[in-house]
Amino acid sequence: MKSFPFFFKLEGKACLVVGGDEGARHKANLLLKAGAHITLVAEELHSSTQQFLNDKASTQPITHLKQSYSPELLKGMHLVIAAEDYELSKSISADARAAGILINAVDMPDLSDFFFPSIVDRSPITIAIGSNGSSPVLVRHIRAQLESFLPARVGDLGGLVRKFRDQVREKFPNLDLRRRFWDKHISGLASELVYSGRTQEAIDLVQQDLNSSDKYEQGEVYLVGAGPGDPDLLTFKALRLMQQADVVLYDRLVSDEILQLVRRESELIAVGKGRNIYSITQENINESLAQFALEGKRVLRLKGGDPFIFGRGGEELEYLASKGVSFQVVPGITAASGCATYAGIPLTHRDHAQSVRFITGHRVGGDLNLDWQECIKPNQTLVFYMGLNGLEVICNKLVEVGMPSITPAALVEKGTQSSQRVFVSDLANLADQVREAKAEAPTLIIVGSVVQLHNQLNWWGVDQNNIAPTDQSSD
Ligand code: SAH
Repeated sequence: MKSFPFFFKLEGKACLVVGGDEGARHKANLLLKAGAHITLVAEELHSSTQQFLNDKASTQPITHLKQSYSPELLKGMHLVIAAEDYELSKSISADARAAGILINAVDMPDLSDFFFPSIVDRSPITIAIGSNGSSPVLVRHIRAQLESFLPARVGDLGGLVRKFRDQVREKFPNLDLRRRFWDKHISGLASELVYSGRTQEAIDLVQQDLNSSDKYEQGEVYLVGAGPGDPDLLTFKALRLMQQADVVLYDRLVSDEILQLVRRESELIAVGKGRNIYSITQENINESLAQFALEGKRVLRLKGGDPFIFGRGGEELEYLASKGVSFQVVPGITAASGCATYAGIPLTHRDHAQSVRFITGHRVGGDLNLDWQECIKPNQTLVFYMGLNGLEVICNKLVEVGMPSITPAALVEKGTQSSQRVFVSDLANLADQVREAKAEAPTLIIVGSVVQLHNQLNWWGVDQNNIAPTDQSSD
């Protein structure tokens, strides 16, 4: 972040705008909206600026001085806008900086101390978007998206919150409870009423809830699947709950990009062994989840993939149920689905496989206790989770029990993430290839004739990724 976005109180503050062209007019207009008192200095005025002054000068705090710029004009100013040629802007900037006044020189970032963001104004809700001058076109697109996405009456909702703020603060001195009260109304019926123009009904509803007895003492656990890594694969519900959490216990599989989307004020606790923060046993996790919820917090338990697939989500919920803690579960895209899709490998296909089997490749004491005969049945796809260390054992064992060594097999490393790599080979050669390429966890192994479809259907990151050469034939 090269510059920091502040919301600056300008009401009644003196600001100087130097220049008479459209850029000067545009900036003066924005500052006027925030209640600034403007002195616009220009010998010449563009016709649109003249028109603007004719419209505003009688009713709003803007004065035109028909003269050239001089440093004395800076006296008492809080902000200066220079909309002049480079040379003049440069000396205005130097004067302003010497006097400790913030300066914006239109389209001249090196002479400026602050920048005007692109603004979505639904007062009192105001959104400012900036790119540090790097991509104004993108900023415009984002603004258009926000404009279309934000309900037109979101400002009225802001007004409703303001109206009840003191009462709510009094009733819920505890910040978490207060937040929960507002979350309920801001994403619930009250907001819908405001958006459809029925503000009085919304006010009645909030008042009624405020008068009723307290229902916000107990917290809740949200067990949420975060998918395999690409944040676009989160569900809407996952995102909503992520933005409501007071405390977050996350696994090491959860990508940083996804963690960025969690509510900024929430407390983040890493509970994965690989993250180097601290490792914690399953019992500790269960207890912490229950304890936080019983303290009244909304606890987000964020897991990679789907919480019910090799995720121990079931165990955590059993514990919470035994303690009477309420919870919600949100499914996520499991690694098998995410990795296969982003590798262009359909897990089932009418010509190749009528079923798919999800298997843990995690070895207990060096051994894989699997029903190998079931694994080698024809027309099915095998997906091994947690199989990187056991890759060679898995491939050898499948061949040993009767699967042809030329059976196509693939390993997907960091599936769905920008660094995804896909290694396509066969049972005889996959382990060697993967070892040579030094693949790192998390990885997923897919075995079966569907794997050969990768050659034709591969689509994700085809340009940037180092895709290992295909080295397999099919039967
Ligand atoms: N609950 C998770 C699985 C947890 S077990 C899910 O539904 O996906 C952890 C294993 O999942 C890893 O060892 C790896 O085999 C697999 N995995 C998870 N994310 C992955 C990814 N982005 N790429 C490849 N494999 C992944």
